[in-house]
Amino acid sequence: MRSRKILPAILVLSAIPGVTTAQEPTIQQLPATNAQGPTIQQLPAPTAQQPAGTTAQQQMTKSEVLDKIISQEQAEVQLLRQYSPLVETYIQNVRRDKQLGAQPDGDKYFIGRAALGRGVELEPLAHESGMKHKVFGSWTSFFSTEFVPRGFLQMIYLDMNGFDRQHYKIEYVRREFLGEVRCLVFDVDPLPKAGKGRFVGRIWVEDQDFHIVRFNGAYGGSSLTSSYFNFDSWRTNSGKNLWLPSFIYSEQGSVRDAKTRRLGLKAFRAQTRLWGYDLGNVREEQELSKVLVEAPNPVNDQSEAANDYSPFQAERSWGRQAEDNVTERLERQGLIAPRGEVDKALDTVVNNLEVTNNLDLQPEVRCRVLMTSTLESFTMGHTIVLSRGLIDVLPDEASLAVILAHELGHVVLGHRMDTQFAFFNRVRFDEKETFRHFDFARTPEEEEAAKQKGNELLNNSPYKEQSGSAQLFLQALKSRSKEIPNLISPHLGDRVSTGWTIVAAVFSAQPSDAEAKPAANAIAALPLGGRIKFDPWNDQLRMLKSKAVGTLAESEKVPFEVTPFVLYLTRQGDHSTTETPSAVAAKTDPETKP
Ligand SMILES: [Zn+2]
Repeated sequence: MRSRKILPAILVLSAIPGVTTAQEPTIQQLPATNAQGPTIQQLPAPTAQQPAGTTAQQQMTKSEVLDKIISQEQAEVQLLRQYSPLVETYIQNVRRDKQLGAQPDGDKYFIGRAALGRGVELEPLAHESGMKHKVFGSWTSFFSTEFVPRGFLQMIYLDMNGFDRQHYKIEYVRREFLGEVRCLVFDVDPLPKAGKGRFVGRIWVEDQDFHIVRFNGAYGGSSLTSSYFNFDSWRTNSGKNLWLPSFIYSEQGSVRDAKTRRLGLKAFRAQTRLWGYDLGNVREEQELSKVLVEAPNPVNDQSEAANDYSPFQAERSWGRQAEDNVTERLERQGLIAPRGEVDKALDTVVNNLEVTNNLDLQPEVRCRVLMTSTLESFTMGHTIVLSRGLIDVLPDEASLAVILAHELGHVVLGHRMDTQFAFFNRVRFDEKETFRHFDFARTPEEEEAAKQKGNELLNNSPYKEQSGSAQLFLQALKSRSKEIPNLISPHLGDRVSTGWTIVAAVFSAQPSDAEAKPAANAIAALPLGGRIKFDPWNDQLRMLKSKAVGTLAESEKVPFEVTPFVLYLTRQGDHSTTETPSAVAAKTDPETKP
Protein backbone atom coordinates (compact mmCIF):
# COMPACT_ATOMS: atom_id res chain seq x y z
CA MET A 1 0.00 0.00 0.00
CA ARG A 2 1.09 3.50 -0.75
CA SER A 3 1.65 5.81 2.13
CA ARG A 4 -0.75 8.72 2.13
CA LYS A 5 1.75 10.93 3.87
CA ILE A 6 4.46 13.04 2.33
CA LEU A 7 7.72 11.55 3.40
CA PRO A 8 11.15 13.10 3.33
CA ALA A 9 12.64 9.63 3.15
CA ILE A 10 15.16 10.60 0.59
CA LEU A 11 16.97 12.91 2.94
CA VAL A 12 20.10 11.12 1.96
CA LEU A 13 19.85 12.99 -1.29
CA SER A 14 18.87 16.41 -0.08
CA ALA A 15 21.27 16.32 2.83
CA ILE A 16 24.24 16.59 0.54
CA PRO A 17 25.14 20.24 0.62
CA GLY A 18 27.79 20.25 -2.02
CA VAL A 19 29.48 17.91 -4.36
CA THR A 20 30.27 14.46 -3.16
CA THR A 21 33.43 12.78 -4.16
CA ALA A 22 33.47 9.28 -5.55
CA GLN A 23 34.11 7.83 -2.15
CA GLU A 24 35.41 9.21 1.01
CA PRO A 25 39.11 9.78 0.62
CA THR A 26 40.40 8.38 3.84
CA ILE A 27 43.85 7.14 3.26
CA GLN A 28 45.31 7.20 6.69
CA GLN A 29 48.98 6.94 6.90
CA LEU A 30 50.35 4.91 9.69
CA PRO A 31 53.82 5.46 11.03
CA ALA A 32 56.09 3.74 8.59
CA THR A 33 58.05 0.84 9.77
CA ASN A 34 61.64 0.67 8.74
CA ALA A 35 61.56 -0.01 5.04
CA GLN A 36 64.83 -1.89 5.15
CA GLY A 37 63.85 -3.86 8.22
CA PRO A 38 64.14 -7.59 7.91
CA THR A 39 60.61 -8.32 9.14
CA ILE A 40 57.18 -6.94 8.55
CA GLN A 41 55.12 -7.12 11.65
CA GLN A 42 51.61 -8.28 11.27
CA LEU A 43 49.60 -6.65 14.01
CA PRO A 44 46.24 -7.77 15.30
CA ALA A 45 43.52 -6.69 12.90
CA PRO A 46 41.78 -3.51 13.97
CA THR A 47 38.23 -4.75 13.61
CA ALA A 48 36.06 -7.58 14.75
CA GLN A 49 35.87 -8.80 11.18
CA GLN A 50 39.11 -10.64 11.52
CA PRO A 51 38.48 -14.26 10.80
CA ALA A 52 38.91 -16.61 13.69
CA GLY A 53 42.08 -18.58 13.51
CA THR A 54 44.41 -15.82 12.48
CA THR A 55 47.01 -15.55 15.15
CA ALA A 56 47.28 -12.25 16.82
CA GLN A 57 50.84 -11.54 16.03
CA GLN A 58 52.94 -13.12 13.38
CA GLN A 59 56.45 -12.37 12.40
CA MET A 60 57.05 -12.89 8.76
CA THR A 61 60.10 -12.14 6.76
CA LYS A 62 59.76 -9.85 3.80
CA SER A 63 60.51 -12.79 1.59
CA GLU A 64 57.66 -14.83 3.08
CA VAL A 65 55.26 -11.93 2.66
CA LEU A 66 56.24 -11.47 -0.98
CA ASP A 67 55.76 -15.16 -1.64
CA LYS A 68 52.26 -14.96 -0.17
CA ILE A 69 51.36 -11.90 -2.23
CA ILE A 70 52.63 -13.50 -5.43
CA SER A 71 50.82 -16.77 -4.91
CA GLN A 72 47.64 -14.97 -3.89
CA GLU A 73 47.77 -12.88 -7.06
CA GLN A 74 48.30 -15.97 -9.18
CA ALA A 75 45.31 -17.55 -7.44
CA GLU A 76 43.30 -14.41 -8.18
CA VAL A 77 44.02 -14.68 -11.90
CA GLN A 78 42.84 -18.30 -11.79
CA LEU A 79 39.77 -17.49 -9.70
CA LEU A 80 38.63 -14.76 -12.04
CA ARG A 81 38.58 -17.17 -14.96
CA GLN A 82 35.21 -18.52 -13.87
CA TYR A 83 33.46 -15.13 -14.07
CA SER A 84 31.76 -13.17 -16.81
CA PRO A 85 31.05 -9.75 -15.32
CA LEU A 86 29.65 -6.80 -17.18
CA VAL A 87 32.25 -4.20 -18.07
CA GLU A 88 31.46 -0.59 -18.77
CA THR A 89 34.05 1.95 -19.87
CA TYR A 90 33.33 5.61 -20.24
CA ILE A 91 36.05 7.76 -21.79
CA GLN A 92 36.00 11.52 -21.76
CA ASN A 93 38.44 13.50 -23.87
CA VAL A 94 39.65 16.66 -22.24
CA ARG A 95 40.84 19.93 -23.67
CA ARG A 96 42.40 22.89 -21.98
CA ASP A 97 40.23 25.81 -21.04
CA LYS A 98 41.91 29.01 -19.90
CA GLN A 99 39.46 29.69 -17.11
CA LEU A 100 38.28 26.28 -16.04
CA GLY A 101 41.27 24.05 -16.66
CA ALA A 102 40.43 20.71 -18.23
CA GLN A 103 37.06 20.53 -19.95
CA PRO A 104 35.24 17.60 -21.60
CA ASP A 105 35.71 17.47 -25.34
CA GLY A 106 34.04 14.42 -26.80
CA ASP A 107 33.46 11.01 -25.26
CA LYS A 108 33.24 7.28 -25.88
CA TYR A 109 31.14 4.61 -24.22
CA PHE A 110 31.43 0.88 -24.18
CA ILE A 111 29.49 -1.86 -22.43
CA GLY A 112 30.04 -5.57 -22.81
CA ARG A 113 30.32 -8.88 -21.06
CA ALA A 114 33.77 -10.15 -20.23
CA ALA A 115 34.67 -13.77 -20.71
CA LEU A 116 37.54 -13.97 -18.26
CA GLY A 117 37.88 -17.68 -18.87
CA ARG A 118 39.28 -16.69 -22.26
CA GLY A 119 41.63 -14.01 -20.99
CA VAL A 120 40.51 -10.45 -21.58
CA GLU A 121 37.80 -11.30 -24.09
CA LEU A 122 34.75 -9.06 -24.29
CA GLU A 123 31.42 -9.46 -26.02
CA PRO A 124 29.96 -6.02 -26.74
CA LEU A 125 26.35 -5.40 -25.73
CA ALA A 126 25.99 -2.28 -27.79
CA HIS A 127 27.68 -1.32 -31.00
CA GLU A 128 28.79 2.22 -30.93
CA SER A 129 29.74 3.48 -34.33
CA GLY A 130 32.43 5.86 -33.09
CA MET A 131 34.54 3.01 -31.80
CA LYS A 132 35.00 1.58 -35.26
CA HIS A 133 36.71 4.56 -36.77
CA LYS A 134 39.48 6.89 -35.92
CA VAL A 135 38.84 7.58 -32.35
CA PHE A 136 41.86 9.09 -30.74
CA GLY A 137 43.80 10.97 -33.35
CA SER A 138 46.52 8.93 -34.95
CA TRP A 139 46.47 6.28 -32.32
CA THR A 140 44.18 3.92 -34.10
CA SER A 141 46.26 0.82 -33.71
CA PHE A 142 45.76 0.93 -29.99
CA PHE A 143 42.26 2.26 -30.01
CA SER A 144 40.80 0.02 -32.63
CA THR A 145 37.38 -1.49 -32.13
CA GLU A 146 38.70 -4.65 -30.59
CA PHE A 147 41.39 -3.13 -28.56
CA VAL A 148 39.76 -0.23 -26.80
CA PRO A 149 37.50 -2.16 -24.45
CA ARG A 150 39.99 -4.98 -23.99
CA GLY A 151 42.73 -2.51 -23.21
CA PHE A 152 40.71 -1.22 -20.30
CA LEU A 153 39.61 -4.66 -19.19
CA GLN A 154 43.22 -5.76 -19.05
CA MET A 155 43.75 -3.34 -16.19
CA ILE A 156 42.01 -5.75 -13.82
CA TYR A 157 45.25 -7.72 -13.90
CA LEU A 158 48.57 -6.53 -12.63
CA ASP A 159 50.42 -8.94 -14.88
CA MET A 160 48.83 -12.08 -16.30
CA ASN A 161 52.16 -13.55 -17.38
CA GLY A 162 54.52 -13.73 -14.52
CA PHE A 163 53.99 -11.50 -11.53
CA ASP A 164 56.85 -13.05 -9.60
CA ARG A 165 60.30 -12.35 -8.23
CA GLN A 166 62.03 -13.43 -11.41
CA HIS A 167 60.43 -10.52 -13.20
CA TYR A 168 59.89 -7.89 -10.54
CA LYS A 169 61.64 -5.93 -7.86
CA ILE A 170 59.20 -5.35 -4.99
CA GLU A 171 60.08 -2.80 -2.33
CA TYR A 172 58.16 -2.31 0.91
CA VAL A 173 57.07 1.29 1.48
CA ARG A 174 54.78 1.50 4.52
CA ARG A 175 51.42 0.58 5.97
CA GLU A 176 48.29 2.45 5.05
CA PHE A 177 44.54 2.18 5.50
CA LEU A 178 42.29 2.11 2.46
CA GLY A 179 38.95 2.70 4.12
CA GLU A 180 38.84 0.23 6.98
CA VAL A 181 41.20 -2.23 5.34
CA ARG A 182 44.77 -2.06 6.56
CA CYS A 183 47.26 -2.54 3.77
CA LEU A 184 50.93 -3.07 3.17
CA VAL A 185 52.20 -0.82 0.43
CA PHE A 186 54.91 -1.81 -2.03
CA ASP A 187 56.59 -0.23 -5.02
CA VAL A 188 56.84 -2.60 -7.95
CA ASP A 189 59.33 -2.35 -10.82
CA PRO A 190 60.10 -4.83 -13.57
CA LEU A 191 63.62 -6.20 -13.46
CA PRO A 192 65.88 -5.44 -16.42
CA LYS A 193 65.13 -7.85 -19.26
CA ALA A 194 61.75 -8.76 -17.71
CA GLY A 195 60.23 -8.00 -21.07
CA LYS A 196 57.72 -5.55 -22.38
CA GLY A 197 54.39 -4.57 -20.94
CA ARG A 198 55.34 -5.21 -17.33
CA PHE A 199 53.65 -3.29 -14.54
CA VAL A 200 55.38 -0.29 -13.01
CA GLY A 201 53.82 1.35 -10.00
CA ARG A 202 52.56 0.78 -6.51
CA ILE A 203 50.44 -1.97 -4.98
CA TRP A 204 48.31 -2.11 -1.81
CA VAL A 205 48.03 -5.53 -0.19
CA GLU A 206 45.51 -6.22 2.58
CA ASP A 207 47.39 -7.68 5.52
CA GLN A 208 45.23 -10.69 6.42
CA ASP A 209 45.26 -12.86 3.34
CA PHE A 210 47.63 -10.79 1.19
CA HIS A 211 45.32 -9.99 -1.69
CA ILE A 212 46.35 -7.07 -3.84
CA VAL A 213 43.39 -4.72 -3.42
CA ARG A 214 44.65 -1.78 -5.42
CA PHE A 215 47.40 -1.18 -7.94
CA ASN A 216 48.29 2.13 -9.44
CA GLY A 217 50.70 2.63 -12.32
CA ALA A 218 51.15 1.62 -15.93
CA TYR A 219 52.22 -1.25 -18.14
CA GLY A 220 55.71 -0.08 -18.97
CA GLY A 221 58.48 -1.13 -21.20
CA SER A 222 58.11 -0.54 -24.85
CA SER A 223 55.53 1.34 -26.72
CA LEU A 224 54.26 4.81 -26.42
CA THR A 225 50.92 3.56 -25.23
CA SER A 226 52.17 1.59 -22.32
CA SER A 227 54.48 4.19 -20.92
CA TYR A 228 51.82 6.75 -21.29
CA PHE A 229 48.67 5.12 -20.14
CA ASN A 230 48.20 5.37 -16.40
CA PHE A 231 45.61 3.57 -14.35
CA ASP A 232 44.43 3.03 -10.81
CA SER A 233 42.73 -0.35 -10.41
CA TRP A 234 40.59 -1.25 -7.37
CA ARG A 235 39.23 -4.53 -6.09
CA THR A 236 36.24 -4.81 -3.80
CA ASN A 237 35.79 -7.41 -1.10
CA SER A 238 32.64 -9.42 -1.61
CA GLY A 239 33.26 -12.23 0.82
CA LYS A 240 36.01 -14.30 2.35
CA ASN A 241 38.90 -14.56 -0.12
CA LEU A 242 36.88 -12.79 -2.78
CA TRP A 243 38.38 -9.53 -3.97
CA LEU A 244 36.77 -8.59 -7.25
CA PRO A 245 38.12 -6.07 -9.77
CA SER A 246 35.45 -3.39 -9.76
CA PHE A 247 36.66 0.13 -10.52
CA ILE A 248 39.46 1.41 -12.71
CA TYR A 249 40.31 5.01 -13.25
CA SER A 250 42.64 5.71 -16.14
CA GLU A 251 44.18 8.67 -17.79
CA GLN A 252 46.20 9.34 -20.84
CA GLY A 253 48.28 12.41 -21.25
CA SER A 254 47.42 15.70 -19.71
CA VAL A 255 46.07 18.91 -21.09
CA ARG A 256 49.05 20.64 -19.52
CA ASP A 257 51.52 18.31 -21.13
CA ALA A 258 53.35 19.51 -24.23
CA LYS A 259 54.25 15.96 -25.21
CA THR A 260 50.59 15.01 -25.48
CA ARG A 261 49.95 17.84 -27.87
CA ARG A 262 53.14 17.33 -29.83
CA LEU A 263 52.17 13.72 -30.52
CA GLY A 264 48.77 14.83 -31.66
CA LEU A 265 47.09 12.83 -28.92
CA LYS A 266 43.97 13.80 -27.15
CA ALA A 267 44.20 13.62 -23.42
CA PHE A 268 41.43 11.60 -21.79
CA ARG A 269 40.15 10.39 -18.48
CA ALA A 270 38.18 7.18 -18.20
CA GLN A 271 36.19 5.16 -15.71
CA THR A 272 35.74 1.42 -16.00
CA ARG A 273 33.20 -0.36 -13.82
CA LEU A 274 32.70 -4.10 -13.46
CA TRP A 275 29.68 -5.77 -11.90
CA GLY A 276 27.35 -8.74 -12.24
CA TYR A 277 29.88 -11.35 -11.10
CA ASP A 278 27.16 -13.36 -9.40
CA LEU A 279 24.82 -13.66 -12.34
CA GLY A 280 23.45 -16.62 -14.17
CA ASN A 281 23.79 -20.13 -12.91
CA VAL A 282 25.18 -19.27 -9.52
CA ARG A 283 22.20 -17.17 -8.51
CA GLU A 284 19.71 -19.55 -10.08
CA GLU A 285 20.98 -22.47 -8.07
CA GLN A 286 20.90 -20.51 -4.83
CA GLU A 287 17.34 -19.40 -5.47
CA LEU A 288 16.10 -22.83 -6.33
CA SER A 289 17.65 -24.43 -3.29
CA LYS A 290 16.17 -21.68 -1.12
CA VAL A 291 12.72 -22.39 -2.47
CA LEU A 292 13.12 -26.09 -1.88
CA VAL A 293 14.41 -25.60 1.63
CA GLU A 294 11.99 -22.95 2.78
CA ALA A 295 8.79 -24.23 1.29
CA PRO A 296 8.48 -27.99 1.71
CA ASN A 297 4.67 -27.71 1.61
CA PRO A 298 3.06 -26.33 -1.51
CA VAL A 299 1.98 -22.78 -0.82
CA ASN A 300 -1.00 -21.37 -2.61
CA ASP A 301 0.20 -17.88 -3.43
CA GLN A 302 -2.95 -17.18 -5.42
CA SER A 303 -5.06 -16.69 -2.30
CA GLU A 304 -5.36 -12.91 -2.71
CA ALA A 305 -6.51 -13.25 -6.28
CA ALA A 306 -9.20 -15.73 -5.46
CA ASN A 307 -11.77 -13.89 -7.51
CA ASP A 308 -11.99 -14.17 -11.23
CA TYR A 309 -10.50 -11.38 -13.27
CA SER A 310 -12.74 -9.01 -15.13
CA PRO A 311 -11.57 -8.17 -18.64
CA PHE A 312 -10.26 -4.82 -17.30
CA GLN A 313 -8.29 -6.55 -14.60
CA ALA A 314 -7.04 -9.11 -17.05
CA GLU A 315 -5.84 -6.34 -19.33
CA ARG A 316 -4.03 -4.66 -16.44
CA SER A 317 -2.47 -7.82 -15.17
CA TRP A 318 -1.35 -8.64 -18.71
CA GLY A 319 0.42 -5.27 -18.86
CA ARG A 320 1.99 -5.87 -15.46
CA GLN A 321 3.24 -9.22 -16.61
CA ALA A 322 4.97 -7.58 -19.55
CA GLU A 323 6.66 -5.13 -17.14
CA ASP A 324 7.69 -7.93 -14.82
CA ASN A 325 9.06 -10.04 -17.66
CA VAL A 326 11.23 -7.27 -19.01
CA THR A 327 12.41 -6.16 -15.56
CA GLU A 328 13.30 -9.70 -14.58
CA ARG A 329 15.11 -10.33 -17.81
CA LEU A 330 17.18 -7.14 -17.42
CA GLU A 331 17.91 -7.91 -13.79
CA ARG A 332 19.18 -11.36 -14.69
CA GLN A 333 21.50 -9.77 -17.20
CA GLY A 334 22.82 -7.36 -14.59
CA LEU A 335 21.37 -4.35 -16.35
CA ILE A 336 18.73 -3.54 -13.74
CA ALA A 337 19.75 -3.50 -10.09
CA PRO A 338 17.95 -5.78 -7.63
CA ARG A 339 15.34 -4.05 -5.46
CA GLY A 340 17.06 -2.04 -2.76
CA GLU A 341 17.38 1.21 -0.87
CA VAL A 342 17.80 3.38 -3.96
CA ASP A 343 14.54 2.13 -5.52
CA LYS A 344 12.80 2.84 -2.25
CA ALA A 345 14.12 6.39 -2.19
CA LEU A 346 12.77 6.91 -5.70
CA ASP A 347 9.45 5.30 -4.73
CA THR A 348 9.15 7.81 -1.91
CA VAL A 349 9.48 10.76 -4.24
CA VAL A 350 6.95 9.24 -6.63
CA ASN A 351 4.62 8.65 -3.69
CA ASN A 352 4.96 12.29 -2.65
CA LEU A 353 4.02 13.37 -6.17
CA GLU A 354 1.05 11.02 -6.23
CA VAL A 355 -0.29 12.00 -2.81
CA THR A 356 -0.16 15.73 -3.46
CA ASN A 357 -1.85 15.22 -6.81
CA ASN A 358 -4.54 12.91 -5.42
CA LEU A 359 -3.55 10.15 -7.76
CA ASP A 360 -4.55 6.56 -7.17
CA LEU A 361 -2.71 4.62 -9.82
CA GLN A 362 -3.30 0.89 -10.21
CA PRO A 363 -1.23 -1.17 -10.30
CA GLU A 364 1.14 0.66 -8.01
CA VAL A 365 3.86 2.68 -9.70
CA ARG A 366 7.32 1.46 -8.81
CA CYS A 367 10.86 2.54 -9.64
CA ARG A 368 13.89 0.57 -10.71
CA VAL A 369 17.47 1.51 -11.52
CA LEU A 370 19.32 0.74 -14.73
CA MET A 371 22.94 -0.04 -13.82
CA THR A 372 24.57 1.97 -16.59
CA SER A 373 26.37 5.32 -16.47
CA THR A 374 24.45 6.73 -19.41
CA LEU A 375 21.89 9.39 -18.53
CA GLU A 376 18.45 8.06 -19.36
CA SER A 377 14.99 7.36 -18.04
CA PHE A 378 11.88 5.66 -19.31
CA THR A 379 8.66 3.98 -18.27
CA MET A 380 7.45 0.49 -18.96
CA GLY A 381 3.79 0.63 -18.10
CA HIS A 382 3.74 1.54 -14.42
CA THR A 383 7.42 0.84 -13.89
CA ILE A 384 9.69 3.89 -13.97
CA VAL A 385 13.34 3.24 -14.75
CA LEU A 386 16.14 5.73 -14.12
CA SER A 387 19.76 5.02 -14.88
CA ARG A 388 22.31 4.99 -12.08
CA GLY A 389 24.33 7.51 -14.06
CA LEU A 390 21.43 9.93 -14.11
CA ILE A 391 20.70 9.66 -10.39
CA ASP A 392 24.42 10.15 -9.79
CA VAL A 393 24.61 13.56 -11.41
CA LEU A 394 21.38 15.05 -10.05
CA PRO A 395 22.17 17.87 -7.63
CA ASP A 396 19.26 17.36 -5.21
CA GLU A 397 15.93 15.73 -4.45
CA ALA A 398 13.95 18.40 -6.28
CA SER A 399 15.75 17.68 -9.55
CA LEU A 400 15.07 14.01 -9.02
CA ALA A 401 11.42 14.89 -8.51
CA VAL A 402 11.40 16.77 -11.82
CA ILE A 403 12.70 13.73 -13.70
CA LEU A 404 10.25 11.43 -11.91
CA ALA A 405 7.34 13.84 -12.46
CA HIS A 406 7.97 13.66 -16.19
CA GLU A 407 7.97 9.86 -16.15
CA LEU A 408 4.93 9.81 -13.91
CA GLY A 409 3.34 12.03 -16.55
CA HIS A 410 3.71 9.14 -19.03
CA VAL A 411 2.07 6.81 -16.52
CA VAL A 412 -0.85 9.13 -15.78
CA LEU A 413 -1.42 9.69 -19.48
CA GLY A 414 -1.58 5.94 -19.96
CA HIS A 415 1.33 5.74 -22.41
CA ARG A 416 1.70 2.04 -22.91
CA MET A 417 4.47 -0.38 -23.32
CA ASP A 418 4.52 -3.14 -25.88
CA THR A 419 2.62 -5.90 -24.11
CA GLN A 420 3.95 -8.57 -26.44
CA PHE A 421 6.57 -8.99 -23.69
CA ALA A 422 3.86 -10.66 -21.62
CA PHE A 423 4.56 -13.65 -23.83
CA PHE A 424 7.51 -15.40 -22.31
CA ASN A 425 9.12 -16.32 -25.59
CA ARG A 426 9.43 -12.59 -26.33
CA VAL A 427 11.99 -12.17 -23.55
CA ARG A 428 14.21 -15.00 -24.76
CA PHE A 429 16.87 -13.76 -27.08
CA ASP A 430 20.61 -13.44 -27.47
CA GLU A 431 22.03 -11.04 -24.90
CA LYS A 432 23.85 -9.14 -27.63
CA GLU A 433 20.46 -8.10 -29.00
CA THR A 434 19.21 -6.58 -25.75
CA PHE A 435 19.35 -2.94 -26.71
CA ARG A 436 17.87 -3.62 -30.12
CA HIS A 437 15.19 -5.91 -28.74
CA PHE A 438 13.85 -3.49 -26.16
CA ASP A 439 13.07 0.07 -27.04
CA PHE A 440 11.12 2.21 -24.64
CA ALA A 441 11.61 5.54 -26.37
CA ARG A 442 8.48 7.68 -26.79
CA THR A 443 7.04 9.49 -29.76
CA PRO A 444 7.50 13.27 -29.89
CA GLU A 445 3.78 13.70 -29.20
CA GLU A 446 3.93 11.53 -26.09
CA GLU A 447 7.02 13.41 -24.95
CA GLU A 448 5.34 16.77 -25.33
CA ALA A 449 2.29 15.59 -23.42
CA ALA A 450 4.43 14.15 -20.63
CA LYS A 451 6.32 17.43 -20.25
CA GLN A 452 3.07 19.26 -19.66
CA LYS A 453 1.71 16.62 -17.34
CA GLY A 454 5.01 16.56 -15.47
CA ASN A 455 4.82 20.29 -14.90
CA GLU A 456 1.28 19.95 -13.63
CA LEU A 457 2.24 17.22 -11.18
CA LEU A 458 5.19 19.25 -9.98
CA ASN A 459 3.14 22.36 -9.43
CA ASN A 460 0.96 20.57 -6.91
CA SER A 461 3.89 18.97 -5.14
CA PRO A 462 6.19 20.03 -2.32
CA TYR A 463 9.05 20.12 -4.83
CA LYS A 464 7.55 23.14 -6.53
CA GLU A 465 9.48 25.57 -4.35
CA GLN A 466 12.89 24.08 -5.04
CA SER A 467 12.58 23.27 -8.68
CA GLY A 468 14.96 26.09 -9.60
CA SER A 469 17.88 23.74 -9.05
CA ALA A 470 16.30 21.32 -11.49
CA GLN A 471 16.09 24.02 -14.12
CA LEU A 472 19.77 24.76 -13.55
CA PHE A 473 20.51 21.08 -13.95
CA LEU A 474 18.68 20.90 -17.26
CA GLN A 475 20.48 24.02 -18.47
CA ALA A 476 23.85 22.61 -17.49
CA LEU A 477 23.05 19.38 -19.28
CA LYS A 478 21.95 21.24 -22.38
CA SER A 479 25.08 23.36 -22.51
CA ARG A 480 27.29 20.27 -22.06
CA SER A 481 25.44 17.99 -24.43
CA LYS A 482 27.74 18.59 -27.42
CA GLU A 483 30.81 17.52 -25.45
CA ILE A 484 29.29 14.36 -24.00
CA PRO A 485 27.16 12.89 -26.81
CA ASN A 486 27.69 9.28 -25.76
CA LEU A 487 26.94 9.83 -22.11
CA ILE A 488 23.53 11.23 -22.97
CA SER A 489 22.73 8.60 -25.59
CA PRO A 490 20.22 6.20 -24.08
CA HIS A 491 20.35 2.42 -24.48
CA LEU A 492 16.71 1.72 -23.83
CA GLY A 493 14.73 4.85 -23.14
CA ASP A 494 14.75 8.55 -23.77
CA ARG A 495 17.53 10.98 -23.24
CA VAL A 496 16.83 13.52 -20.54
CA SER A 497 14.90 16.20 -22.32
CA THR A 498 16.59 19.48 -21.57
CA GLY A 499 14.31 21.65 -23.63
CA TRP A 500 11.53 22.16 -21.16
CA THR A 501 10.87 24.97 -18.79
CA ILE A 502 9.76 23.95 -15.39
CA VAL A 503 6.74 26.04 -14.69
CA ALA A 504 7.11 26.18 -10.97
CA ALA A 505 6.87 28.92 -8.39
CA VAL A 506 10.46 30.03 -8.54
CA PHE A 507 10.22 30.92 -12.18
CA SER A 508 6.58 31.75 -12.61
CA ALA A 509 7.06 34.46 -10.01
CA GLN A 510 9.83 35.98 -12.09
CA PRO A 511 8.86 35.39 -15.70
CA SER A 512 11.62 37.67 -16.97
CA ASP A 513 14.24 35.40 -15.47
CA ALA A 514 14.14 32.90 -18.28
CA GLU A 515 17.77 31.92 -17.98
CA ALA A 516 18.12 31.14 -14.32
CA LYS A 517 21.29 32.33 -12.69
CA PRO A 518 22.92 30.03 -10.19
CA ALA A 519 23.46 31.15 -6.64
CA ALA A 520 27.04 31.89 -5.66
CA ASN A 521 28.03 28.34 -4.81
CA ALA A 522 25.28 26.42 -6.55
CA ILE A 523 26.07 23.00 -7.98
CA ALA A 524 24.20 22.48 -11.21
CA ALA A 525 25.21 18.85 -11.61
CA LEU A 526 27.52 16.40 -9.89
CA PRO A 527 30.47 14.58 -11.44
CA LEU A 528 29.89 11.00 -12.59
CA GLY A 529 29.42 8.49 -9.82
CA GLY A 530 28.48 11.16 -7.31
CA ARG A 531 25.82 9.32 -5.32
CA ILE A 532 25.57 5.60 -5.72
CA LYS A 533 27.99 2.77 -5.18
CA PHE A 534 27.37 -0.84 -6.01
CA ASP A 535 28.48 -4.24 -4.92
CA PRO A 536 30.12 -5.82 -7.99
CA TRP A 537 29.08 -9.28 -6.76
CA ASN A 538 25.32 -8.94 -6.38
CA ASP A 539 24.70 -5.51 -7.98
CA GLN A 540 23.13 -4.10 -4.79
CA LEU A 541 23.10 -0.31 -4.92
CA ARG A 542 23.72 1.91 -1.93
CA MET A 543 23.87 5.62 -1.39
CA LEU A 544 27.36 6.96 -0.88
CA LYS A 545 28.02 8.43 2.51
CA SER A 546 30.51 11.17 2.08
CA LYS A 547 31.20 14.35 3.87
CA ALA A 548 30.51 17.80 2.54
CA VAL A 549 33.48 19.22 0.73
CA GLY A 550 33.04 22.86 1.65
CA THR A 551 33.33 25.66 -0.82
CA LEU A 552 34.31 24.61 -4.29
CA ALA A 553 36.34 26.71 -6.67
CA GLU A 554 34.72 27.14 -10.07
CA SER A 555 37.29 24.76 -11.58
CA GLU A 556 36.42 22.15 -8.95
CA LYS A 557 32.81 21.95 -10.04
CA VAL A 558 33.06 19.22 -12.57
CA PRO A 559 29.53 18.55 -13.78
CA PHE A 560 29.13 15.32 -15.77
CA GLU A 561 32.88 14.78 -15.63
CA VAL A 562 35.08 11.80 -14.99
CA THR A 563 36.90 11.93 -11.68
CA PRO A 564 39.28 9.40 -10.09
CA PHE A 565 37.90 6.65 -7.86
CA VAL A 566 38.90 6.70 -4.24
CA LEU A 567 37.14 3.77 -2.64
CA TYR A 568 36.38 3.25 0.99
CA LEU A 569 37.32 -0.42 1.18
CA THR A 570 35.60 -2.68 3.68
CA ARG A 571 35.74 -6.34 4.55
CA GLN A 572 32.65 -8.49 4.16
CA GLY A 573 32.10 -11.63 6.12
CA ASP A 574 31.56 -14.91 4.35
CA HIS A 575 29.40 -14.15 1.41
CA SER A 576 25.76 -14.64 2.17
CA THR A 577 22.89 -14.10 -0.19
CA THR A 578 20.58 -13.35 2.68
CA GLU A 579 22.59 -10.38 3.82
CA THR A 580 20.27 -7.40 3.98
CA PRO A 581 21.22 -4.15 2.33
CA SER A 582 20.97 -2.32 5.64
CA ALA A 583 23.47 -4.65 7.22
CA VAL A 584 25.85 -3.94 4.39
CA ALA A 585 25.27 -0.24 4.71
CA ALA A 586 26.00 -0.31 8.41
CA LYS A 587 29.22 -2.11 7.77
CA THR A 588 30.41 0.36 5.20
CA ASP A 589 29.36 3.46 7.08
CA PRO A 590 32.54 5.43 7.69
CA GLU A 591 31.04 6.70 10.95
CA THR A 592 31.08 3.22 12.42
CA LYS A 593 34.74 2.86 11.78
CA PRO A 594 36.43 1.83 15.00
ZN1 LIG B 1 9.46 11.08 -21.61
